[in-house]
Amino acid sequence: MRKLSEISSLDGKRVIIRCDLNVPLDGSTITDDGRIVASVPTIKYLVDQGAKVIVISHLGRPDGAPDAQYSLEPAAKRLGELLSQPVFFASDTIGSEARGAVKALDRGGVVVLENLRFNAGETSKDEAERREFAAKLADFGDLFVSDGFGVVHRKQASVYELAQLLPSVAGFLIEKELEVLTRLTSNPERPYAVVLGGSKVSDKLVVIDHLLPTVNKLLIGGGMVFTFLAAQGFKVGSSLLEVDQIETVRGYIARATELGVEIVLPTDIVVASKFGADAETSVTLASEIESSPFGASGLGLDIGPDSAARFAEEISQAKTVFWNGPMGVFEIDKFAGGTRAVAKALTELKGLGVVGGGDSAAAVRILGFEDSQFGHISTGGGASLEFLEGKKLPGLEVLNG
Ligand code: ADP
Ligand code: MG
Repeated sequence: MRKLSEISSLDGKRVIIRCDLNVPLDGSTITDDGRIVASVPTIKYLVDQGAKVIVISHLGRPDGAPDAQYSLEPAAKRLGELLSQPVFFASDTIGSEARGAVKALDRGGVVVLENLRFNAGETSKDEAERREFAAKLADFGDLFVSDGFGVVHRKQASVYELAQLLPSVAGFLIEKELEVLTRLTSNPERPYAVVLGGSKVSDKLVVIDHLLPTVNKLLIGGGMVFTFLAAQGFKVGSSLLEVDQIETVRGYIARATELGVEIVLPTDIVVASKFGADAETSVTLASEIESSPFGASGLGLDIGPDSAARFAEEISQAKTVFWNGPMGVFEIDKFAGGTRAVAKALTELKGLGVVGGGDSAAAVRILGFEDSQFGHISTGGGASLEFLEGKKLPGLEVLNG
């Protein structure tokens, strides 16, 4: 892989850096700046080397057109604070303001362009459209630094096509992420446990298929639980359920048994009367969710306290743990117990504990843990999972050779 450290002269060069500044926002307030903090070392290096730095990123999933709630302006402001220097924010990505801002850059200056995904070309399925958009971005720079680890599994204009249009290298964040994740794929210390949760159920079910041959235990929490419970014939009320995945999950359970992998499912569930901080709650057996006072309208929003204790115990017995996806709706405190227990167990692990995933990383910080308490907090959820599955990631492949 071509690396930034191998580039000898950056002085006065226009360097486009693809970061992942996709931070969670509450209005225009950043609730977890972890991804911006993680982007700083490479940007700072470029500044110190006298480069003219053009930062590009996406935020959220706008529909290929400007949408104020997904503006990168708050992220640009925070980046300026972390760098202790003015950072100019351009309110378009390839328009006249961006062009003007890039032109006006001095050595060591930094500009952040508006959300890449305000342009349909960024995520277009049509390669020609992506190329056209990437070419406009490429006009701004002499060198491309790819450092948005969270998006390297995506074949998108600013990740893949842009890297082909300019001399391109990996930044320090990507290097660091790969160093740690490689320790999970090549000969991890055993027992090796993977904890999966979150709400992107069908995305993550696919991962299980690939992980089964490599792990010793698989702990399942979050929204995925209910498809597993349904596969065992239990009713799950109004909880998140992917009916069309039930058969697939039955296949995974059978395969796990064949491979000697233990799938650990929660035995109790925090069931809520509705989705919200003012919901009533009741803890039920995982097999009897509809026997809660809320009947068939009850929603499972967290693993129960017994399951949280069991998961913590399983984690403490492992030597290598990868965790992706919150155990419950941690954003609401009464559904944060499972996530808190798993996070705490990881901080006490005698071995390598890696947290991956945007919401998982945000969760540990919001729940009051420090980054330094974990072996590694990856800035990429999907990207780290695909890496662990052994897939080739387009954004990394393109930097090879
Ligand atoms: P990550 O970003 O770490 O990969 P995901 O994006 O898959 O994780 O999922 C995070 C979201 O999952 C959180 O917003 C959380 O509220 C939600 N979640 C967790 N458990 C449940 C559940 N039982 N029902 C609905 N949503 C859930
Ligand atoms: Mg997420």
